[in-house]
Amino acid sequence: MLQTWHIGVDDTDSQSGMCTTFLGTIIVDFLLKHSLEFLDFPKLIRLNPNIPYKTRGNGAVAITFMAHEEIIDDLWKEIISLVKENADINDPHTDPGLVLIKGEIPSEFQELYREALYQVIHLDLVKQLLKEHPSEKHFYIKEGRGLIGATAAIGAILSQDYTYEFIAYRNPKEKKPERLIDPTSVINADKKTPLTFNNYDYEHNQIMISPHGPDPVFCGIRGETSSAVIRMWELIDILEPIQTTMVFRTNQHTQVHFPKIFLGYELKPYLSVKVRGFVVKKPYDYPGGHVIFTIKSSNTSIDCAAYEPTKRFRKIIRELIEGDEVLVFGGVRPASTKNPVTINIEEIQVIKLISIQEKITPKCPICKASLTSAGRNQGLKCKKCSYISPKKKYIYQQKSRKLRTGVRYVIPVCAQRHLTKPVTRNLPLQFHLSSEINFKHAFYDFLKRRTMLNNRNIHRSGTYNTYMKNKK
Ligand code: ATP
Repeated sequence: MLQTWHIGVDDTDSQSGMCTTFLGTIIVDFLLKHSLEFLDFPKLIRLNPNIPYKTRGNGAVAITFMAHEEIIDDLWKEIISLVKENADINDPHTDPGLVLIKGEIPSEFQELYREALYQVIHLDLVKQLLKEHPSEKHFYIKEGRGLIGATAAIGAILSQDYTYEFIAYRNPKEKKPERLIDPTSVINADKKTPLTFNNYDYEHNQIMISPHGPDPVFCGIRGETSSAVIRMWELIDILEPIQTTMVFRTNQHTQVHFPKIFLGYELKPYLSVKVRGFVVKKPYDYPGGHVIFTIKSSNTSIDCAAYEPTKRFRKIIRELIEGDEVLVFGGVRPASTKNPVTINIEEIQVIKLISIQEKITPKCPICKASLTSAGRNQGLKCKKCSYISPKKKYIYQQKSRKLRTGVRYVIPVCAQRHLTKPVTRNLPLQFHLSSEINFKHAFYDFLKRRTMLNNRNIHRSGTYNTYMKNKK
């Protein structure tokens, strides 16, 4: 009988190589080779960015497809082999997990996803959940920590906000940190594809689509529609060979990791939190280029930090003063020997700015120069024209504040997490609920063009030679 199946996979990579999305792509290709039908793009699901076990961006992959029940045992065995062959299991921190379920996605899985976005989930809880669910198969190596991400990824149905990422992969044996992409072409392509975002950090002159690690990701292009991210790929000049490509539907840049407001005393290490409070200690510079201030929420004082990598964002933070009411978004860092529990800020919103009066000395009524004090218990005098005012009459006026209420102050692109919603992403939710709703159709559209998209670098070999010659 033809059934819908969902696979989730996580924790297959390490600091020295691999990427769970690459393994996800290998699994998709394996299923395509068996002519199985897909109902959606594979999903790239980011979970709590503040958990300590992550390799890079805490990403897991979920894949939905149709298959006859009779062949599922054979498919499952082969998918396990793919995980064993490709996961970097020699690394002590790699703990792969693979989950398969049939039919409707259970509400418990959806609930787990929502919790895993901002909390630390216990592995035993997930193993118990998998035991209780009758139609599931799961496989893990070592402790199987990857089961947490794999199960949560299946639970992410992305029925509300979502985005897309087009990922191009190089040969996984390639480990060099640089990816050869012409930066001018990225800037030009960025301008021509308004439905893509975070391609280039104009403030720090940095390409944002390519990573710098030893992993197989050559570049990742993010955007609102699959056609926009594919178009951007077609427009950039890549200067080295590509092995394959994939488009993922994803929860990246949707800000789903801040579902609720926490009270000060509820903070625990590694949570992703949103806390409302009053500034009780104004921002000060901390060695290393960090800026720290303290807020009070429900009688608990909490340090909040804009670390050095957040660059000009620190300037915004320095504008806060005692008494301001703010909403701070960020990850909770555990206390160290030197510092208390601290929120690593991702975003801040001002709820209420305190108004402060500043004292202004009046101008001389005769020559308009500034008056100064004429001495203790005396009036004001003008040094320029010797005018004397018998009384000290200062003017008090409201000091203008650079911060505004109702504005999202977000850390710069180069410091953002995968789930951070860029300020430029402000399309109404309706956009996603109405356009490209036929995911299956859009995915097959991509597959039809995939060979061409994988091979387009071949036409660039001339450019590559010129680029290398100029580099020498
Ligand atoms: P990449 O993004 O490059 O694929 P990664 O940063 O996702 O790597 P992993 O190697 O997958 O890092 O490690 C993350 C681990 O944390 C996985 O085992 C995953 O199951 C687990 N995990 C994910 N979310 C949570 C959570 N909320 N609580 C506890 N564990 C989690």
